[in-house]
Amino acid sequence: MKRVTILGATGSIGCQTVELIEAAPDRFETVALTGGRNVALLADQARRLGAKIAVTCHDDCRAELAERLAGSGIATASGDAAIAEAAAMPADLVMSAIVGAAGLVPGLAGIRQGATLALANKETMVAAGPLVLAEARAHGATLLPVDSEHSAVFQALVGEDRGAVERVILTASGGAFRDWPLERLAQATPEEAATHPNWAMGQRITIDSASMFNKALEVIEAKELFDLAPDQVEVVIHPESLIHALVGFNDGALMAHMGAPDMRHAIGYALNWPERRALPVARLDLAAQGAMTFRAPDDARYPALRLARRVMEEGGLAGAAFNAAKEAALDAFLDRRIGFMQMAQVVERVLDMMSREGALRVDSPGLDAVLEADAQARARAASIARTDHLTA
Ligand code: NAD
Ligand code: MG
Repeated sequence: MKRVTILGATGSIGCQTVELIEAAPDRFETVALTGGRNVALLADQARRLGAKIAVTCHDDCRAELAERLAGSGIATASGDAAIAEAAAMPADLVMSAIVGAAGLVPGLAGIRQGATLALANKETMVAAGPLVLAEARAHGATLLPVDSEHSAVFQALVGEDRGAVERVILTASGGAFRDWPLERLAQATPEEAATHPNWAMGQRITIDSASMFNKALEVIEAKELFDLAPDQVEVVIHPESLIHALVGFNDGALMAHMGAPDMRHAIGYALNWPERRALPVARLDLAAQGAMTFRAPDDARYPALRLARRVMEEGGLAGAAFNAAKEAALDAFLDRRIGFMQMAQVVERVLDMMSREGALRVDSPGLDAVLEADAQARARAASIARTDHLTA
């Protein structure tokens, strides 16, 4: 039996993880489930999986969660500290599926108990890649990528000579606006941005896909996870989303990972690793598919990709600042305080400011420095979104 904890169980990745675990009750035992305001779903999941404890990050949701689980024997708790404590409960695998930098501290708690960390939360590697890898080494914890592209790279590397890797190519669907005329993007609304041509995901990552901030985070995530130089990570637009990533070797070979665009593949691969087991995902019919297409991403349409390059070159705390500024800019866009294309402007100004002050140049930053840079970048982005003159 594998003991599993799911951080962010009520989200898009979390629900699919619950579904796969529920389908294999003889192989998984659930330790802790965490969520946010959707306590009805969290309580239901906890009962279905027979979890030991259910935790909401909101203290004002605690009473309702306890009421819903009354008589079940399932413990309840609330607050950020309780989430990190749940992640520290003995488990073999912790699924890190909280959205945003909020996933970093609980993920580290999972690593520090030596559990395998299944990493859907890409923000963890963007904000604190070197720290996370060092902690994983120190505690003998394994990191398994769950982001589809990174799971694809991980799978393409099995049995390969890591020294023979020349490059990694991440595919991108291009998001909701890939075929919109460039001039129209400034007027795009949150509702329009929250639709995705191929993948069904949480609201924030869907909007990040339209702006390519998601791919920008993934480029940095790939550099950190697979120990690559910035120029070894490439992005290609692949509207069909059938190839999830490719690894290029020094003999010119490209190993591509293909499959239906369904996160249950990457989630199931991580849950079952090091084994492969049958998964309920659609099988590709290549003849019916007919063709796959590729094109280079356009810099004017996707400024986030340029910013990712800059973040990788700067290193230090640039990733933490970049991610936090992006989260705050996304909040401002969702509140209709700034336009779609202004998100990148906000993030760039935050990086400019913090870089000028030397606030990003820190070698091997610890957790406190990462959290401080995160808080600073968030506050600055919020203030820029409120007060600065941004280009329409
Ligand atoms: P989601 O918004 O659907 O779910 C987020 C989960 O985190 C929910 O359970 C929510 O209650 C919880 N949560 C939110 N804020 C929290 C906080 N401050 N503290 C504690 N818990 C909090 O998100 P998602 O789409 O499932 O994405 C989760 C993570 O996985 C993100 O990092 C995302 O980038 C990554 N990811 C998602 C997909 C996908 O298909 N959805 C694919 C690849 C990577
Ligand atoms: Mg991805």
